[in-house]
Amino acid sequence: MAAATVLRVNADRLWDRLMALARIGATPAGGVNRQALSVEEIAAWRQVIAWSEEAGLIASTDDAGNLFITLHGSDPTALPLLSGSHLDSQPTGGKFDGVYGVVAALEVLTVLAEQGQRPRGDVIAVAWMNEEGSRFAPGMMGSEVFAGVRELAALRDLRDADGVAVGDALDALHAAFPTLPRRRPGFVFEVYVEAHIEQGPVLEAAGATIGVVTGIQGKKTYEVELRGDKGHAGTLAMADRRDALAAFARIASALYTQVGAHDEQVKFTIGQLRVEPNAPSVVPERALMRIDLRHPDAATLDLLGARLVALCRGHATPCEVDVRALVDAPGNGFDTELQGSIEAAAHRLELPSLRLLSAAGHDARHMAPLAPSAMIFIPCRAGVSHAEHEWAEPGHVAAGADVLLQVLARRAGIA
Ligand SMILES: [Zn+2]
Repeated sequence: MAAATVLRVNADRLWDRLMALARIGATPAGGVNRQALSVEEIAAWRQVIAWSEEAGLIASTDDAGNLFITLHGSDPTALPLLSGSHLDSQPTGGKFDGVYGVVAALEVLTVLAEQGQRPRGDVIAVAWMNEEGSRFAPGMMGSEVFAGVRELAALRDLRDADGVAVGDALDALHAAFPTLPRRRPGFVFEVYVEAHIEQGPVLEAAGATIGVVTGIQGKKTYEVELRGDKGHAGTLAMADRRDALAAFARIASALYTQVGAHDEQVKFTIGQLRVEPNAPSVVPERALMRIDLRHPDAATLDLLGARLVALCRGHATPCEVDVRALVDAPGNGFDTELQGSIEAAAHRLELPSLRLLSAAGHDARHMAPLAPSAMIFIPCRAGVSHAEHEWAEPGHVAAGADVLLQVLARRAGIA
């Protein structure tokens, strides 16, 4: 009678699937380039759907290009359990960021289906559209539309660097899967649990296998455009110049010291700079930069955001400046009961765990206001992520999925 058998994922299958998906968009340096709504992502969808169908699971999509895989429950009135992450990557991304959470959720459904387990409500794995925001900015489009944070109609007009609109890329994705059932974005669910690599060094340093994520730190992003005049590098007097790159240099210097060095917890990055005309002997006419600002304390983040805007305006003269706020995502805390379930599952599986705040943003951020939500982290080597040598140990990969299985199975009335 005693439920002595603890449900476990198939660790080899989970690892093999991660490695198989890593071949779709593989880069020569061992990483992955699988941009949102690209042919590579379509190929990844095809593979995930094929695995799902083998296990008797049901694939579907929505207008926002999110992919859902469903294991049907026995009680149609019970709310579904939702778990997943994303299949898109940075241009020089790794084999684990995002895809791990999708494959781990699929593995949970597959194990339950194989063992003939019938959850109370549906259990649904999800791959959110465009989490990374590298091809189409900003990121987290799929989860934001699902959560009602953004209107899909407005996002469809956004374009990538080649001028391709989100809407056209979405239509191409859906056209590649003409028989896939499609619904309007958004449905009610009971809980959301996302498994992910930590993307930081905390778990590895502490020797912990499972991270119980307490919340996500807040983030603001900005696009700053500086406009001056172009001119001949040899003839135009320094005093007469409106040099956009010189304005950038003044602003960047002020931002690094007065925002980036504010305290030990702030994370300040100018990750992108475009200069026009970007010619060796022409005074720059235009500089466009993207800034990413994060802080675990909401009030400090607001303060630094306001300071950033003021510094950009204060140091631009004689150029003109526009500061556009792109993302303003406040920090959030995850559900304490779910955190407890994750911790208890790790304990039952004899996996050392640690509570920690997520320094990176995740789709779970947008699920948290809708229903109790949480995240399970596993370590990644040296904390490296968004890089081609990103790495997670097979044992940790299986451990995180085992914990996910435990949490969802208990919630579904199985274990
Ligand atoms: Zn991710």
